[in-house]
Amino acid sequence: MNTTFRSRRTLGIIGGGQLARMLAIAARPLDIDCVTLEPTGMQCSAGPVSDVIVGEFDDKEALAVLADRCDVITVELEAVPPSTMEWLADRVPVRPGVEAVRTSQDRLLEKQLLRSLGIATAPFNEEVLANEPAIVKTRRGGYDGRGQIRVANEAERTRAIAELPDPIVEGLVRFGRELSLVAARSIDGAIAFYPLVENVHHDGILRETTAPATVSAAQQAAGERLATLLLEKLDYIGVIGIELFDVDGALLVNEFAPRVHNTGHWTIEGAHTSQFEQHVRAVMGLPLGSTSARGAALMINAIGALPDEARVLGIPATHMHAYGKEDRPGRKVGHVTITAESLAELEFRAAAVRAAF
Ligand code: ATP
Ligand code: MG
Repeated sequence: MNTTFRSRRTLGIIGGGQLARMLAIAARPLDIDCVTLEPTGMQCSAGPVSDVIVGEFDDKEALAVLADRCDVITVELEAVPPSTMEWLADRVPVRPGVEAVRTSQDRLLEKQLLRSLGIATAPFNEEVLANEPAIVKTRRGGYDGRGQIRVANEAERTRAIAELPDPIVEGLVRFGRELSLVAARSIDGAIAFYPLVENVHHDGILRETTAPATVSAAQQAAGERLATLLLEKLDYIGVIGIELFDVDGALLVNEFAPRVHNTGHWTIEGAHTSQFEQHVRAVMGLPLGSTSARGAALMINAIGALPDEARVLGIPATHMHAYGKEDRPGRKVGHVTITAESLAELEFRAAAVRAAF
């Protein structure tokens, strides 16, 4: 009998949703175990693929177990109390760090940081002129378009400001399209960028991502430049998702997420290294992998309910990811990725997949 055991490496993940699930799946081939901290219970998305500690994000007993069991701790969502990040960071490396998480939680701090780096954003607060169309957003806690009110005039704006807790007013950006950049930075400061991708949102929720986006080398370089400024300023470790507005070729940052990002899900089948493996590599102190695309890919979110499984799986080069979540209107319960050699072939398959939704 073999009695020699290799010492185990364990990654802790705060949050047990679908991003934690996909991180844990990506960690498995590297023989890295994952432990998740999740308040809602063992039945969470990451439940089948990780050890779940059931506890609130500020539950010191649960945090102590997490810190004790893990070599490194990361997050799958930005809504982690900074005090939790700090408490854990006194005991075990927490990557990315508290500053990145704290800043991304607050749309005002986020915009102020971006501006201080010379990165363009939507106009906000006093920069938005009276009667200009705007979006009033709550500074903290909004996601998937929740906590936002679109306003057309001064009266509506005043009402929205009174209605939303801790509001920020953003000028409505008349973008040509939405892009995003997923990038990763390792503990030795190396940075790897995925190609820019193009995203379609409805009602504030991401519907589709096409990868790579059709962009010039100059636009890709501009995205990489602003990402580098941000990653280096935050001394960031891990994968980051940066949401962008393309206004006549210029890039404005909408927001960034200190974690793997929905617009990076295509990388599982569509890139040489998935964003999930990349994040695991980065936070565990391993070298980054190749971010180049294998071809073209389209990711379609399943919102509210999954599409017909048999139909989707019957389409060539099409993969379904179900998150093990109950159907609920507006909830991301899975996604489908279609790959192809070219964008033309992709569009042909995409029509069949869209029909299955
Ligand atoms: P998610 O969690 O999906 O990223 P969120 O709740 O954090 O969403 P935002 O990313 O701020 O919200 O906004 C969601 C979408 O609403 C954007 O992707 C964009 O389509 C639109 N939007 C947000 N802010 C603006 C703006 N200032 N001008 C024009 N459109 C905007
Ligand atoms: Mg967003």
